[in-house]
Amino acid sequence: MNQQEGWYCVSCEEFKDERELLPGKRCPIHASKEVEWRDEENYFFRLSRYQDQLLALYQERPDFIAPESRRNEVLSFVNSGLQDFSISRVNLEWGLPVPFDPSHTIYVWFDALLGYVTALLDPDSDPTLENAVSKWWPVDLHLIGKDILRFHAVYWPAMLMSAGLPVPGRVFAHGFLTKDGKKMGKTEGNSLNPVELVNKYGADAVRYYFLKEIEFGQDGDFNETRFINTLNAELANDLGNLLNRTLNMARKYCGGCVPNVSGENISGDNVLKAMSLNLGDRVAGFYEELAFSKACEAVLALVRAGNKFIDVQAPWSLYKQGQHETVGQVLYSVLESVRIASYLLSPIIPNISSAIYQQLGFSIDFNDRVTVNSLTNFATHSVWGALPANQTLGEAQPVFKRLELLETVPS
Ligand SMILES: [Zn+2]
Repeated sequence: MNQQEGWYCVSCEEFKDERELLPGKRCPIHASKEVEWRDEENYFFRLSRYQDQLLALYQERPDFIAPESRRNEVLSFVNSGLQDFSISRVNLEWGLPVPFDPSHTIYVWFDALLGYVTALLDPDSDPTLENAVSKWWPVDLHLIGKDILRFHAVYWPAMLMSAGLPVPGRVFAHGFLTKDGKKMGKTEGNSLNPVELVNKYGADAVRYYFLKEIEFGQDGDFNETRFINTLNAELANDLGNLLNRTLNMARKYCGGCVPNVSGENISGDNVLKAMSLNLGDRVAGFYEELAFSKACEAVLALVRAGNKFIDVQAPWSLYKQGQHETVGQVLYSVLESVRIASYLLSPIIPNISSAIYQQLGFSIDFNDRVTVNSLTNFATHSVWGALPANQTLGEAQPVFKRLELLETVPS
């Protein structure tokens, strides 16, 4: 038991250092709220004892905290010296009573972090620590908001160390969103409703915009005009139109089938084949790092090269010149590039990827995990040449309809 006094934000449920407060004793995260002075006797966790072990962990596993900027924040916080923190509260009716002292309840953050382990218990097994950690602990990743990084990257690993349990694989802190450059809030009346956004534009569009346009881990902004312009430019034009015009040419010049060409027989000098060579592994690496924006950019580069390629090669004039074999190679190269692009983006735009695959003559639904695992394994589909020669193509239809900005009438 120890005396705990200091400035406390009820919304964060956290004591704040005086120097991090905004003018008027307001919380840096809840700027409209004043912090309260608290002075009470609490039970403590001896965090100070784990400073060296924590620093050793961050050093041995440089990717334990990401992104880099957040890691540096935590390093400087821990390096500046760790204070023991109180893990109980008095005068709280709700909360779990401390077993040996029911006049105290367990501090909500101590409790919440333990939830990562207690939640792993099978409903049928005895509620023991041994059972809780027997199957799924340690987890690979804690994906959290940047405002609760300290709990996950400092307090939680220390608590686990004190219990002799392994720490999680990684802690990744994501950023905050603003709308039209302004902080969102109920009082400002400018909050963004994700369900409405999905109903209006579809889940693929919403996922693509946020993962592509905002570097994951950084703060980002939502603006509806930019949202629409990005999706129209990249999904409707770059990707959708490329597929559409190529399919129409395949219909005209190759009888509605994939040209009679095998991926292997396309020359290594072919710019699309060369770009596709290591693309799958690169993109998979970006996904592993949670660098979604880089994954999209890498795929988009192939799509843009596909558009340029078809303009430069001009299969319509090659056909007129009677160079039918070259026409087949050009069309195959572009269709295969679109296929690889849609495969690699399928975790983000599964509906569009499914539509593309169907138009290429496959019957695969990327929303159906079981089918995906059995029909499209990564080793085959992420590389050049998986599009079978002479496969009958589906009907060409826009895979992503251009969006229009609908002005909402102020109510
Ligand atoms: Zn707060």
